[in-house]
Amino acid sequence: MNNFGLDIWANKNFIIEDGEIKLNYKSMPSLLDIVNNIRANDVKGPLLLRFPHLVKRQIKTLYNYFEKAIEENNYKGKFKAVFPLKVNQFPAAVEAITSQGAKYNYGLEAGSKAELILAMSKVLDGANITVNGFKDEEMLTLGFIAAHSGQNITITIEGLNELETIIDVASKSNLKVPNIGIRVRLHSAGSGIWAKSGGMDAKFGLTSTEIIEAIKLLKDANLLEKLTMIHFHIGSQIADIAPLKKALREAGNIYAELKKMGADALSSINIGGGLAVEYDQHEKSHARNYSIDEFSSSVVFLLGEIMDRKNVTHPDIFTESGRFIVASHAVLITPVLELFTQDYQEKLLNFKDTNPPLVEELIELNRLLNNANCIEYLHDALDHMESLFTLFDLGYIDLQDRSNAEILVHNIIKKALYLKSANPTNELEQLQIKLQERYLINASVFQSLPDYWGLGQHFPVMPIHHLNTTPLRAASLWDITCDSDGEIGFDPDKPLYLHDVNIDEEDYFLAFFNIGAYQETLGMNHNLFTHPSEYTISINDSGYNITNAVESKSILEILESIGYDKHEILNQVKNKLANASFITEKEKNDTLLQLERFLYQNGYLRTTN
Ligand SMILES: *Cc1c(COP(=O)(O)O)cnc(C)c1O
Repeated sequence: MNNFGLDIWANKNFIIEDGEIKLNYKSMPSLLDIVNNIRANDVKGPLLLRFPHLVKRQIKTLYNYFEKAIEENNYKGKFKAVFPLKVNQFPAAVEAITSQGAKYNYGLEAGSKAELILAMSKVLDGANITVNGFKDEEMLTLGFIAAHSGQNITITIEGLNELETIIDVASKSNLKVPNIGIRVRLHSAGSGIWAKSGGMDAKFGLTSTEIIEAIKLLKDANLLEKLTMIHFHIGSQIADIAPLKKALREAGNIYAELKKMGADALSSINIGGGLAVEYDQHEKSHARNYSIDEFSSSVVFLLGEIMDRKNVTHPDIFTESGRFIVASHAVLITPVLELFTQDYQEKLLNFKDTNPPLVEELIELNRLLNNANCIEYLHDALDHMESLFTLFDLGYIDLQDRSNAEILVHNIIKKALYLKSANPTNELEQLQIKLQERYLINASVFQSLPDYWGLGQHFPVMPIHHLNTTPLRAASLWDITCDSDGEIGFDPDKPLYLHDVNIDEEDYFLAFFNIGAYQETLGMNHNLFTHPSEYTISINDSGYNITNAVESKSILEILESIGYDKHEILNQVKNKLANASFITEKEKNDTLLQLERFLYQNGYLRTTN
């Protein structure tokens, strides 16, 4: 896995060149160069980099494929898309989405009051807003206010009670009534770990009986001309296209039936989100069994076929894909703070004038190891190690001898791995796994990769430099939280090998890719580690610009965000120091200044160079 599966997950967005990972766009900057630029301003801790051109690429891909399918199938409806805000509501992400989507009139979807207000404020003029999720009278009234302000808003009802409230608000206010959509509860469900949004027992949607009732209620209230949309969403990260096709047939037929029942204003089918992203780094498993080409063709073809058979005008097609649009745009860069087995460095060897004979032999094995003898010498070394442990237990050698032996054997194994790296024996592979290196990363899995913690979702990870040399250390990654769950353990089925670097002498940065969807808002402040420092990187022909810099919260801001008064905290710690009697005034003042400086720095570790 010398390229870390780049050809599987990177979609040609990144390439490896000169031993570094670079953006495959315009001036093609390397991630290391960007990281060094940002860190030159004394920013420490993890960095989240956003690349708006990757948002643009996804929006363009989505629209182009659907428009191509529409043309090829002689489909009469239009393609429209909205971005579901729950996937990423962060200001710089929303800015990238709306600015890059302007050409397509790309809209926004909201699932809560706060998201609705965000959508109303940030949506492009004339673009669509759709609203899903459970709603109360106030939230529905917000939808009326949006319609009244001239926005193109469709409120999808999840149950009859919501429709009753809409009818009620319409009758008692003079506000313009928004367009109404009905979320249908499908018989068919999706597949995969996120597929809980479809099926008979789904959390959302109206049954066929309720849909008939809804039409009756709308007719009675004279609001049937507001019913414009049928909506479904079978779950995120759709792995298999078959359930989607079933859902399309079901929803398409419901649409056609409703048209026949007199719902003349119905004009669109909203197929929700769910387009999958490739997170896999290993050839074995692939996240999905379809391409965007097949996805769009299937949707357009099936809907056209159903409508033609029932003699109904082709509806406009809405999608709400979120993960597909933003997953690739954000990259998390984490400095490595420590490699735990650096305790085994050769420079720590401390020989005596006379060493025990087995240690002398290890010294020779280590010195003479070469490609031809390495397996034999390795076996000898392992054998000697066992004997030396026994000698230690029996009191014949001391702790220094044992330490020397451990370092030597460790080195012999490492050398053997390097010598045989082109085709390691099974035994070497097993040793490699046993001799796992633990890399301490300056980040929190809970904050930055919550889906790894909660669902075991794998995110592609690789170093951003050193890529000219083969990584040989089986790696597990430890984060800086004091929680044993904050670990990405070595998985022999999805092995990660990293480089042997001396962190005291050089930086080593790992990057996690495809983290732009869901991870940011889902991230938890466990141990009070907050959202990493973030930057938007706009790449042009001659270089790149770094904008929208937001440094991770300072220690005082973190405490403030959970309800503490930051001035009180600052004063309390300062007073304790000021009242200490055993230090001089000068020391006191210096320490007070230092203390204050620490409290205004972000909460991540600062130990790397
Ligand atoms: C979450 C959600 C989406 C987005 O799903 P993705 O898998 O991110 O594309 C779209 N529509 C609805 C109703 C949702 O709840």
